[in-house]
Amino acid sequence: MPFNRLNETHIKNLQSMVAPDRISTGASVLDLHAKDQSHHTPSRPELVIWPVKASEVAEILNYANDNLIPITGWGSGSSLEGNPIPVEKGIVLDFTQMNRISNIREEDFQADVEPGVIYQDLNEKLRYSGLFFPPDPGARATIGGMIANNASGTRTVYYGSTKDYVLRLSVALANGEILELGTRASKTSSGYDLIRLFVGSEGTLGIVVGATIRLVGLPVEFSAAVATFPSIDAAGKTVFEIIRSGLNPAALELLGPECIELMNREEGLELNLSPTLFIEFHGTTTSQLAEVLDMAEEISRAEGCINFEPGVGRVQRDRIFKARHALGEMILRNHPDCGILIMDVAVPITAYSELIATINTEMAETNLVSYYLSHAGNGNVHLNIAGKKGDTQEWNLIGQIVQRLVQKTIDLGGTATGEHGIGLGKRKFMVAEHGTSLTWMKKIKTLFDPNGILNPGKIFP
Ligand SMILES: Cc1cc2nc3c(=O)[nH]c(=O)nc-3n(C[C@H](O)[C@H](O)[C@H](O)COP(=O)(O)OP(=O)(O)OC[C@H]3O[C@@H](n4cnc5c(N)ncnc54)[C@H](O)[C@@H]3O)c2cc1C
Repeated sequence: MPFNRLNETHIKNLQSMVAPDRISTGASVLDLHAKDQSHHTPSRPELVIWPVKASEVAEILNYANDNLIPITGWGSGSSLEGNPIPVEKGIVLDFTQMNRISNIREEDFQADVEPGVIYQDLNEKLRYSGLFFPPDPGARATIGGMIANNASGTRTVYYGSTKDYVLRLSVALANGEILELGTRASKTSSGYDLIRLFVGSEGTLGIVVGATIRLVGLPVEFSAAVATFPSIDAAGKTVFEIIRSGLNPAALELLGPECIELMNREEGLELNLSPTLFIEFHGTTTSQLAEVLDMAEEISRAEGCINFEPGVGRVQRDRIFKARHALGEMILRNHPDCGILIMDVAVPITAYSELIATINTEMAETNLVSYYLSHAGNGNVHLNIAGKKGDTQEWNLIGQIVQRLVQKTIDLGGTATGEHGIGLGKRKFMVAEHGTSLTWMKKIKTLFDPNGILNPGKIFP
């Protein structure tokens, strides 16, 4: 459906819906909302609005729908697959001012939040309650953006991803209707699970204007270890064995030596320059955790572990994870002349070693610089590949490698995206991954958004 460009009448009408300091066509504002943290080509919106309440969002949506104007939601813009880039221009709704934590019900382990709440701010507020919201994408992401992308992170192997934490959702539809979904009960088997439909839909079905999220208790005790290996392959086999053994790690991260070198240099970590596993367990007693750590060491040694450092304290653990979360930015900083393509795929744990072997073979045949980092416990692999800006030949090569690796992932029973979403970059794999069910996804999209105004150009090839 062809969209309309914003004219003066549209802008005047939209200005009447919000306070004057919450709407802008300023060039720098449009530039700030033209790109996320990915390598994808920026595209400016025509207007940015900062809503502060659900009724404003509904009114704007209703107007945009009647006038065929594209609308794209915006949290922190930290996506890695072009998800919030307004490729069809139109309006960006920036939720950073709709960021109230309206209610924390400690006894029910729940919080009511607006979409612009940054998850670290929520966890900071919960600090003395003994509760937290576990999904941790690392970047300063909003809960609205996390719901839209179904974000996860280092603790997902134990705690699950964002979809496991949404109990109630308020969604503004394209026609301005506000849907209230879910209940405050911790379980339900009532009717279709529309919440799960909206979680991960990248703002293409509706705009999140509020949520009740589930919280969990902070772990009483924790233990962590750093294990180094002669090869990525040996570390990968250890991941499989640890998961298979049922040890239930709270984090199981695998990093290549090139990542360790960066972390040592930039964060002074002094880790061995080898493929490394960060292993963490949460539990109730130190003796129980010590036993679990012993077993993890035994498994690691059996796979050729060179060095197993147990008993990593909280301070060192926090330093390692801080550096782990900062890796994406470190890689960017260390390649100022390059764009970084971040491949994000996930396979069943039994296929993890085979995927690693395929990646090794592919990369060994090129001179490309790449970084291997993985939420290994979930079989979720990231390969960050540096490509010189403007070097079409190099980017074509990167494109071909990623095409083959994602196809291999799908052939292994995996998915084209473990956590970053489809956005722009993974649309071409939708048919291979979903086959005929893609037709039903399109029908659902048309049902909720018949004019296609919500984040157009995303998800569908
Ligand atoms: C250094 C770094 C590390 C990262 N690590 C991880 C990781 O480990 N795991 C992971 O999952 N992700 C990771 N990410 C990606 C990113 O942080 C997540 O995808 C996050 O959920 C995006 O949140 P955001 O607030 O920035 O949303 P944005 O990027 O602004 O938007 C994300 C999507 O949500 C839509 N949207 C925004 N607000 C709304 C709303 N209210 N209603 C409907 N749609 C909306 C947008 O249109 C877009 O499609 C990382 C990013 C960076 C930069």
